[in-house]
Amino acid sequence: MKYKGVKGTRDILPPETDIWRHLESTAAGVFQTFGFREIRVPVMEETQVFTRSIGETSDIVEKEMYTFTDRGNRSVTLRPEGTAPVVRALVQNGVFVEHPASKFFYMGPMFRYERPQAGRYRQFHQIGAEAFGIDDPRLDAEILLMLTVLLDKLGLKNLDCQINSIGCPQCRPRFREAVKAFFAERLDGLCADCKRRYETNPLRIMDCKVPACVELRAGAPSVLDHLDEACAAHFRTLTDTLAHLGVPFTVKPTLVRGLDYYTRTTFEVVAGSLGAQNAVAAGGRYDKLVEEFGGPKTPAIGFALGVERMVSLLAETAPPAPRPALFIAALGEPAALRALSIASALRKSGVWAECGYSGSLKSQMRRADKLGARFTLIIGDEEVASGFAQLRNMETKEQELIGLDEAAKRFMD
Ligand code: ATP
Ligand code: MG
Repeated sequence: MKYKGVKGTRDILPPETDIWRHLESTAAGVFQTFGFREIRVPVMEETQVFTRSIGETSDIVEKEMYTFTDRGNRSVTLRPEGTAPVVRALVQNGVFVEHPASKFFYMGPMFRYERPQAGRYRQFHQIGAEAFGIDDPRLDAEILLMLTVLLDKLGLKNLDCQINSIGCPQCRPRFREAVKAFFAERLDGLCADCKRRYETNPLRIMDCKVPACVELRAGAPSVLDHLDEACAAHFRTLTDTLAHLGVPFTVKPTLVRGLDYYTRTTFEVVAGSLGAQNAVAAGGRYDKLVEEFGGPKTPAIGFALGVERMVSLLAETAPPAPRPALFIAALGEPAALRALSIASALRKSGVWAECGYSGSLKSQMRRADKLGARFTLIIGDEEVASGFAQLRNMETKEQELIGLDEAAKRFMD
């Protein structure tokens, strides 16, 4: 019997895992300089954590959640996103009471039942950041700056940072009416989902990816014309601050994110080269969510970055694969033991060394080549007896005689 991974899941093998690690450690490093600390939350939550926050009429809740009933008859959902679990955890642990202004980041798998295709999986990974307790738009600008710094550090270029404001619960109803009025005459051309959205949540029509709907949206009312004075001022300060910080951005009034909890600032980072699934990161402000989870009034903003899409962008600029500093080929029992001691001395001091164990010299050297070892040391009975062996530089092919006691020390710094 041969098994296959579940549809929409992927195995991530070396050398791709090197890119993942590079991305994760670069992100953690950048986030730290902006004051974010890591939080780890479970991959499953009570289903309501998501249905209540993301919205009953969102794509995620309507058709993408991995929900099941556990043996204790609870409805449990594999997290489709990270914000709701983070807020749940912070409220539950009383963090907002002690630290009203705090910043967190997370990394890990998310689960959505989607049609698998390039850049879209059922288990995928996000790196996300969430900042709480500050409603100043300068924080929004800093979050976007942090994303820009990360993308820069990773060497990613030609990314477009698109921003918008979707207002607040006070001004959004007016926009909603304007959108409804606009699509009233265009209902026939909309996709089946959008026909339904027209009744349940017309703003989602603005987020639909079906080409017919995208076309029909041309000339739709702009949310920016419907903001109240406070939301408009918030957005103005955001764009002014971004300009001041030199963060490039595009204002995109059609950017209405698919989750219910967003207020005011929303944004997406888009890579033209990725084709249809081109958003690598997305986020926004969610000033009401903490309260909805039973916490104190706490404004917040965050984003999530799609790791798989980032990794595919990084594949071209990937760091070189790691190689062992030394490969020790051994012929005979005493030599194998000596090889192991030299290798373990190196490993203890943090240097990658490999041993050949047994087998012909030819097959051991083949392995050394495959691993890309920089140097090889060949030990047999004679070398053990004399205490000297040939050290071979695999690039230049130069050889030198080296004392076995010296061999480990040579690679330690
Ligand atoms: P999309 O428009 O591509 O469906 P989304 O709005 O559903 O994205 P978010 O919930 O904002 O996505 O998630 C943030 C990021 O996570 C996305 O920009 C994308 O890079 C990544 N992402 C979302 N869904 C998937 C998926 N099924 N597979 C791989 N990456 C994903
Ligand atoms: Mg989606």
